[in-house]
Amino acid sequence: MVQFLGGVKVSTITAIATPHAVGGISVIRISGENSIEIANKMFKASSGKSVTEMQGYSCSYGKVFDDETELDDAVLTVFRAPKSYTGEDVVEISCHGGIFITNKILRTVISVGAIPAEAGEFTKRAFLNGKLTLTQAEAVMDLISSQGEQSHKCAVSIHEGALFKRIKSISDKLVTLLGELGAWVDYPEEDIPAVEANNLLVTLSSVLSALKATAATYDSGKIIRNGIDTVIVGRPNVGKSTLMNLLTGYERSIVTEIAGTTRDLIEESVRLGDVVLKLCDTAGIRQTDDLVEGAGVKLAYKKLENADLILAIFDNSLELKHEDFQLIEKLIGKKTIAIINKSDKESLIDKDFISENFNSIVEISAKSGDGIEKLKDKLEEIFYTNDIDVSAGVIVNERQKRCLDMAITSIKEAISALEIGETLDAVTVLIDETANFLLELTGEKTTEAVVDEVFSHFCVGK
Ligand code: GDP
Repeated sequence: MVQFLGGVKVSTITAIATPHAVGGISVIRISGENSIEIANKMFKASSGKSVTEMQGYSCSYGKVFDDETELDDAVLTVFRAPKSYTGEDVVEISCHGGIFITNKILRTVISVGAIPAEAGEFTKRAFLNGKLTLTQAEAVMDLISSQGEQSHKCAVSIHEGALFKRIKSISDKLVTLLGELGAWVDYPEEDIPAVEANNLLVTLSSVLSALKATAATYDSGKIIRNGIDTVIVGRPNVGKSTLMNLLTGYERSIVTEIAGTTRDLIEESVRLGDVVLKLCDTAGIRQTDDLVEGAGVKLAYKKLENADLILAIFDNSLELKHEDFQLIEKLIGKKTIAIINKSDKESLIDKDFISENFNSIVEISAKSGDGIEKLKDKLEEIFYTNDIDVSAGVIVNERQKRCLDMAITSIKEAISALEIGETLDAVTVLIDETANFLLELTGEKTTEAVVDEVFSHFCVGK
């Protein structure tokens, strides 16, 4: 029997589902209509029972063979369609966790009939078979990459369908409305109550508020998921690279005594307490004739515009210079922590001036690590994320945000059209457009290109 999914003929796929590293066990996953037959060609159970006789959710201990050559002991688990992750027949082979042996078994699975899975293909099949919504599938990826407690909680709640339910409760309202509008326009002779423009306006406004409230979760969602987009700035030699190294815990930036050596933007994710910082160390901010460094400085200023947080570093051991004042001016109105570095040295800096210009100030010695705890406390104080109710569903990625923004634009247009007395037909088109953007967000109505894009970010084996 040929298997089809989304109108496309599908094969039985396989991949290593565990990390490509030495470990206690490795798992090779096979999914598709031939997976049980394929496993049967290479596995001999100690009990003598054939894989084809195994029930779903059952395991069997035995040996894996490549032709006549014994490769390893393994435990084989069978999941029968539709009760599996992908909704297809799935077999998982748990073997010893060596890289060589795992690859060897994978090659054997391929030699007896499976094809290598693409990135995210298992989860994509789960989505196409209706086992997951698109937002739930996206949450699978977030679960794998979650770095902190909040980001994990957030991924779990989306995986449990929180975002889907939140959006669906909004789109359902629109769909009901479209039904009423359609019935009234299409069957004027029937005794269907007219849709009152005023009532319609009330409903559309409440939908707009709900959409705006959902969109507002994006910033906290992004911070929970990706960490705080943080830029480290300061003129050369104040200790930006040293701080970056202290935070990342290893020599990542080039630290030298010569001013202006950090020319590129260096990015790194670090965790400080329950806060994850996505750090960007910039070229030293100063006036320069050096073209390469000049480009770096421009990039640094651009980064400042979009950052969630700026760590502005000043040198405790020197008086404030022209570039420091310039920087301080640029930082007015931005979420900034002023860091007075080199606290181990005699202080010549005008601390009062810093206090007058920044709400948050931390004194540290990036070299010795003194004061890092104070920085951590300050960050937790500013970005305390525990009070965000992730269980209500939050928007976590650009794709979801884009759909939501387009839905907001359409519903606003529908409201304006209604207010200026456009026909209900015209309003209906805009409501329909809004509903479509929401259905695209949840993946209920989506294009192949969108689905491919979502799953291309997955790893192979998931
Ligand atoms: P950047 O140009 O801002 O990246 O500055 P660097 O991190 O390269 O540091 C410049 C110099 O200051 C280096 O010699 C560092 O060892 C030194 N430095 C950085 N932080 C401290 C500190 O807290 N105390 C002292 N005494 N020296 C520091």
